[in-house]
Amino acid sequence: MNLSYTTRQQEFKTSALEFAQAELNDSILERDRNGEFSFKGWKACADFGLQGILVPEELGGLGLDPLYYAAIMEGIGQGCKDNGLIFSINAHILTCIVPILLHGSNEQKKRYLEGMVSGKLIAANAMTEADSGSDAYGLRTTAVKENGHYVLNGSKTFVTNAPVADIFIVYATTNKAGGFFGLSCFLVEKNTPGLFVGEKIEKMGLRTSPMSELGFNNCRIPAGNLIGEEGGGGILFSSSMEWERGLILANCIGIMDRLLSDCLNYANTRKIGDQPIGAHQSIAHKIAQMKVRLETSRLMLYKAAWLKSLKKSAALDTSLAKLSISEAYIENCRDALQIFGGYGYMVEYEIERELRDALASSLYSGTSEVQKNIISSLLL
Ligand SMILES: Cc1cc2nc3c(=O)[nH]c(=O)nc-3n(C[C@H](O)[C@H](O)[C@H](O)COP(=O)(O)OP(=O)(O)OC[C@H]3O[C@@H](n4cnc5c(N)ncnc54)[C@H](O)[C@@H]3O)c2cc1C
Repeated sequence: MNLSYTTRQQEFKTSALEFAQAELNDSILERDRNGEFSFKGWKACADFGLQGILVPEELGGLGLDPLYYAAIMEGIGQGCKDNGLIFSINAHILTCIVPILLHGSNEQKKRYLEGMVSGKLIAANAMTEADSGSDAYGLRTTAVKENGHYVLNGSKTFVTNAPVADIFIVYATTNKAGGFFGLSCFLVEKNTPGLFVGEKIEKMGLRTSPMSELGFNNCRIPAGNLIGEEGGGGILFSSSMEWERGLILANCIGIMDRLLSDCLNYANTRKIGDQPIGAHQSIAHKIAQMKVRLETSRLMLYKAAWLKSLKKSAALDTSLAKLSISEAYIENCRDALQIFGGYGYMVEYEIERELRDALASSLYSGTSEVQKNIISSLLL
């Protein structure tokens, strides 16, 4: 057993950190306030190779495995303060590129992947509906096959990247009686008649990652835009969720590392009376607890990424990783804010933004309660 990155993985991690520090942090306070997505940052990440980490070289990517994804994203999270941008890129890769890569036809791969890797195309994944959040498979959006086309009707909500997206991965019911096996997955291009992209939804955190609703009103798409088999959407979604739950928080390990360094520095330099605040056991114990959460989260991430690198099914380990890392990440942001005292609450000190961004992690990709349902159902 070897629990450390290889020299090459470590080199990728370091260069990701340096790239992120140099290229992705400009005017983050202002962009967060205005809820502004960075097209420049998106393109810089694509030029660095981020969107193509998992895509084979012959399709324009770096052809690396999930352990490299974990290492590179950890470096990115450590260097990048624009958590919204990286969340958008994670959604683009893990819920859009991965399903096309694993289940798409050669034609679909050729048509979309190159642009998705080069930064030309932005993708969004549309599963959630107003009445089917945690019950992800109870979809009301329908797709009916008609003369070589599918006709989509319905609506989606909370679609990350939708306001800026060029293509949408959309899940719809093709057979109401089929339940899980009655769902199918489609590619819908942005200018398709009958597709409506709603106004941007304002969020508490991850404000630089845009989100909106989608509407489908007799939206006709070619039958060739079906990804995988008709009725295979449920399996496709759960396999894509496994990737997402296993890897979406990799950058958050880097964020936790960066916050711990900031807290150590603050605890050593902030003096009240004659003493640095780190001399108080209450602060020192918070630091210790932050370190424990960081290291246990890292191990959970590595195990999930390692299993996916071995191409193993990892439903249990990816849910364990999603649940434990998100809860640890939120707790570390809360502790960081407490260590910084009143300054932590002030926008200028950039801790309150980290906490706002972190709070979403126990909601997206299945809430913590849903992860507990999955874990217990696999154990009982
Ligand atoms: C920042 C962000 C980005 C997102 N991006 C996307 C995206 O790109 N695409 C997309 O399709 N969706 C996206 N979502 C939606 C996300 O997947 C849903 O918000 C999530 O699945 C929960 O659904 P809900 O919000 O409808 O909550 P609900 O399902 O209404 O749940 C409300 C509460 O009840 C609990 N609950 C519900 N059912 C159960 C149960 N069976 N057992 C125990 N507890 C339960 C939940 O855990 C939660 O605490 C995003 C959400 C957020 C916050």
